[in-house]
Amino acid sequence: MIRRFLGKVFSGRLFRPAQSKAMPFSKHRIARDRISRCAATTCETLQQHGHAAYVVGGAVRDLMLGRDPKDYDVATSASPEQVRAIFRRSRIIGRRFRLVHVMCGSETVEVATFRGSADSGTDERQTTDEHGRILRDNVFGSLEDDARRRDFTVNAMFYDPVREEVLDYHHGVPDLKARKLRMIGDAAQRYREDPIRMLRAVRLAASRGLEIEARTRKPIRELADLLHNVPQARVFDEMMKLLLSGHAAEGVRRLRKEGLHHGLLPLLDAILEQPLGERFVMRALENTDRRINADKPVSPGFLFAALLWHEVLTAWKQAEARGLNTMPALFHAMDQAGQLQAEQLAIPRRYGGDMKEIWALQPRFLNRFGRRPYHLLVHQRFRAGYDFLLLRCESGELDAEIGEWWKKFQHADEATRAGMLLKEAPGVGKKRRRRPRLRKSPAAPEQGTA
Ligand code: ATP
Ligand code: MG
Repeated sequence: MIRRFLGKVFSGRLFRPAQSKAMPFSKHRIARDRISRCAATTCETLQQHGHAAYVVGGAVRDLMLGRDPKDYDVATSASPEQVRAIFRRSRIIGRRFRLVHVMCGSETVEVATFRGSADSGTDERQTTDEHGRILRDNVFGSLEDDARRRDFTVNAMFYDPVREEVLDYHHGVPDLKARKLRMIGDAAQRYREDPIRMLRAVRLAASRGLEIEARTRKPIRELADLLHNVPQARVFDEMMKLLLSGHAAEGVRRLRKEGLHHGLLPLLDAILEQPLGERFVMRALENTDRRINADKPVSPGFLFAALLWHEVLTAWKQAEARGLNTMPALFHAMDQAGQLQAEQLAIPRRYGGDMKEIWALQPRFLNRFGRRPYHLLVHQRFRAGYDFLLLRCESGELDAEIGEWWKKFQHADEATRAGMLLKEAPGVGKKRRRRPRLRKSPAAPEQGTA
């Protein structure tokens, strides 16, 4: 009782914004018990200590859309040190802009002090590069400043779980109701400040079923090249969010529509411009979306293997045309793709092993004679290799019959399997059998057999 009373006094009297945009429960319908316990307690405790504290950003947007937020951010008037002092289980993270992670059980809530907006830019700590990209914005600000420096109106709503009120300074609630994604302020300037916002626009529109409002959309095509000026790791992180959003296929379609796919992940432009490549990538993305929406795990290695496959395939065919045998040609092509991955695509090296394993298994699915299919079946990456093979069949790159054969072979009894084996093509078996001895390469496919 007393805690709640004090909370109301502090949050209400001391920090009620002068020009209130408070919206009551009847208008927003977000009940206190719909937000995570940890986020609610964090806000309540901060308020009891005399600070303003709200759930902000994506969580409020998603709650209004009737979705469960995947994480919670809290914005507060308290400094990171003050937050840290209030919560025993908390730690300050980040050097440039310090945040506090507050932990309750297994849950973590990210608490940030209200931040100054980009256009309160008289502060010397706020600097931009020659394209207008903000390099530093580690300035504290007011609640209103914090709302203004957020990207889209639907991402700038503040929810107070104690009062069950939403503060909406930028027309976020009506925009969300109309399913509009609208940039706060001048869209072109906001993209120049941070070009990643262009990718965020596409991802949020695709994953939340929103339409990018005309003035927010228009500058994107023109400014797309600014993305090359952003540190690769940030572009990569944002692409990962898009690919793992459960709406990757739609996201990539929209990236193309907005002219943003050039030079992004696996040279999407080159791949998507060939019909076979496009079909393959789209199938892979739809497959990933289905898995994510069914709460099944997805392997980034598999996804990258799929995104780069047509690069590998082209190089593989070229190497064969130059006279290399199947496997050496494939390994050569994989090395080339590996270089591309490291130099241009910022795909972390840890995925390289998975990708290569999946690719290297592919020719082995064509050897359907003797003991070879049996060896392949017990390979520890058989499942990933087989799923990949099915994508190749579905995209029209390989005969569907091959995929069917493997589907049946896996589940058949011994006698059926024996009857399914194909006759070895004359010369092929001999040549293949000799190769491991000649190559002595640790990467020879036969040595990968479990
Ligand atoms: P999701 O969690 O689905 O990725 P989100 O909108 O919550 O979507 P976060 O990266 O978690 O995205 O960011 C939290 C909030 O921080 C956003 O809702 C927005 O208010 C603000 N924000 C994030 N990135 C930017 C940016 N580049 N420019 C301005 N504000 C941003
Ligand atoms: Mg979020």
